[in-house]
Amino acid sequence: MARRAIVAANWKMNGGLALVNTIVSGLTSVKLQDNVDVVICPSFPFLSELTSQITENKLNEAIHVGAQNVSAHESGAYTGEISTQMLQELSVKFVIIGHSERRSYYNETSVEVADKISATLKAGLTPILCIGESESERAEEQTEKVLASQLQPVIDEVGIESFANIVIAYEPVWAIGTGKTASSEMAQETHKFIRQFLAKANANVAAKISLLYGGSVNASNCEELFAQADIDGGLIGGASLQVEQFKQICSTAKGK
Ligand code: PEP
Repeated sequence: MARRAIVAANWKMNGGLALVNTIVSGLTSVKLQDNVDVVICPSFPFLSELTSQITENKLNEAIHVGAQNVSAHESGAYTGEISTQMLQELSVKFVIIGHSERRSYYNETSVEVADKISATLKAGLTPILCIGESESERAEEQTEKVLASQLQPVIDEVGIESFANIVIAYEPVWAIGTGKTASSEMAQETHKFIRQFLAKANANVAAKISLLYGGSVNASNCEELFAQADIDGGLIGGASLQVEQFKQICSTAKGK
């Protein structure tokens, strides 16, 4: 079975109604290749407007709405949190979980990340599980150990078979928002490690999972990155705020 490519836009705490309008009008004319999904993840307050505009403007069915985070709890006294059911009501399909900014600024542990993945899967939404090493961990040749330590708690909690419904984004922390992209060889080598790590638990699931690369992807470097055997698209931060550039990235991706 073919593997789908995914290009996901992580707006972080940027953009608002104006960017929703601009992205929707830009994406009306985007040309997507076969087996590609595009996911736009604005901040929570704009999910509803994005969903409405995608429907009203009859955008390509491969264009979806995603959230940047979710609570692991179903409901209750968790002030400021957003549940999977709330996201479902807004027709959200994907949820970014475990982004390095959440792990470092909000102290999210891999066990908490696993709980969020579990809640997201139970709600029938697709988690985009972010993993990645810091600059010092790479320098100390700890990358594989770190990635394994981020993946294993999720495997333990939801089971390897559930990875059939998970997308993984490998994002070296040192490449996020810094303009320092991993070379395509380095990214490919790490993606291959991730696929092999999953294959030890289930080869079939590992062969089919979409593995995205994230970290300063732009219109100039995406073609080479996406051409790598184990890279199935990207999680795009800064460049996703520039609609023409983002459209070019979306058009470059294709399923494998
Ligand atoms: C991200 O935030 O997930 C990201 C990859 O950001 P940037 O593309 O700006 O490095």
